[in-house]
Amino acid sequence: MKLWVTPTGDRWLCDECQREFAEQIEKEQWRAAFEKWEPTLRCVHCKHGDMEVFD
Ligand SMILES: [Zn+2]
Repeated sequence: MKLWVTPTGDRWLCDECQREFAEQIEKEQWRAAFEKWEPTLRCVHCKHGDMEVFD
């Protein structure tokens, strides 16, 4: 999960949603502050966490 600094505040986005937001990230110049693997974090868009990948 990456923490993005956006014009409307910081938000966590998973890699999946990062692709969806790519255009907006570019247009609004979002900056990735840092990346963290943390099961309690939830993506602001899809509401999923990093640890929900079942193998
Ligand atoms: Zn997501």
